Amino acid sequence: MAGRRRHLVLIGPPGAGKGTQATRLAAEQRLCRISTGDLLRAAAQAGSDLGRLAEDFMARGELVPDELILDLVAEELDRPGCASGAVYDGIPRTVDQARGLAGILGERGEGVERVIVIEVPESEIVRRLAGRRVCKKCEKLYHIGFAPPKLEGVCDACGGELIQRHDDRPETIQRRLAVYREQTEPVLAYYAERPGVTAVPGDRAVDEVAASIRHRLTAVGSGA
Ligand code: AMP
Repeated sequence: MAGRRRHLVLIGPPGAGKGTQATRLAAEQRLCRISTGDLLRAAAQAGSDLGRLAEDFMARGELVPDELILDLVAEELDRPGCASGAVYDGIPRTVDQARGLAGILGERGEGVERVIVIEVPESEIVRRLAGRRVCKKCEKLYHIGFAPPKLEGVCDACGGELIQRHDDRPETIQRRLAVYREQTEPVLAYYAERPGVTAVPGDRAVDEVAASIRHRLTAVGSGA
């Protein structure tokens, strides 16, 4: 049974817009956002043991081992910022992570309230990821076609340099998509057997996707 805190899971292929939507949703619902991708990138930048280990997996487009991910999540959840609950962005990515998350929450007398699946066709994902650029300094996201900076290669917000993430290169994108199909799609089947799952089309404008998510969250029941 869900406890006092709320736990909302966003699932979708890489480039579905999970990060953008999770950030908005967390702000709207006053929850923290737990992004394992961001946490791992921060660890890599800090040069910690975890970061060095994670870097190799990330550069190849492979998943970081489940135990490391679950430890990170458990640690994050105990932060004061997560006192009202969390929006999960990029976790769970395997069935074992879904079970592990249920275990972590269960130990605290809590559970996942909603699972929102953001659906985007693969052709669109490849276009999005291949054109994605990120500010090295403030991590603001751009797209060279749909959301370019005013000045090429320079962040509008802070003047930082815009770079392409290693894992947004074409070979790695294909590997990440294969990993999603093989390891993360089974998570959808895992949650499908439980109440509270809903899907939204993600190949729309950011505001439209956000509105669908909001609508599904307020809708009574779990209907997809
Ligand atoms: P993301 O920013 O969510 O696309 O994650 C970038 C990369 O971090 C992934 O391709 C994985 O290598 C790693 N990663 C992020 N979250 C997880 C997770 N829950 N399980 C395993 N690996 C992860």
